[in-house]
Amino acid sequence: MSPDSLERLRSTIRDVPDFPQPGILFKDITPVLADAELMKAAIEGMAENFVGQKVDKVVGIDARGFIFGALIAQHLGAGFVPVRKKGKLPWKTRGVDYSLEYGTNSVEMHLDALAPGERVVLADDLLATGGTAGAALELIRESGAELLGSVFFIELAFLCGREKLENCGPIHSLLTF
Ligand code: AMP
Repeated sequence: MSPDSLERLRSTIRDVPDFPQPGILFKDITPVLADAELMKAAIEGMAENFVGQKVDKVVGIDARGFIFGALIAQHLGAGFVPVRKKGKLPWKTRGVDYSLEYGTNSVEMHLDALAPGERVVLADDLLATGGTAGAALELIRESGAELLGSVFFIELAFLCGREKLENCGPIHSLLTF
């Protein structure tokens, strides 16, 4: 991706202080979602890391990871699998509990969403402490699928989430703050 596109993406993200609680600087991606050209560039930039790798499924994390994950899946000719917050998926699930930058959470994936040996990429909007991605990666690992790597639109490097994802394959992020 050109330095110009990266800079436009970076400056289009809106910083919202103290949301959803005091002390959190929330990265609001909705201005990027609303810009067709920028969003296309973001998806191409994120998918680029896996082009030619025969990806079977892209796993996206509830809720903004669905947007990036589904579009990356389309771009790569892969299927999409949602990892959802506890209690939202209708079929049989496996689940993992984890802690995040603010609070705790549980995520689940359908038991039959990934087959052993399927080639899988994890996608989410943002890597903060790495708790959410770590939980999703644990679900992928338990399924017996082959993890090709993870991709994030934004990485908050000062929270060192990347360290929590050691031994989880390549980690790509389009923008680092
Ligand atoms: P973590 O588990 O700490 O890596 O948090 C990552 C998840 O929480 C992502 O799915 C984000 O959507 C959300 N998140 C955490 N921190 C922020 C932030 N500062 N701005 C926007 N979203 C965030």
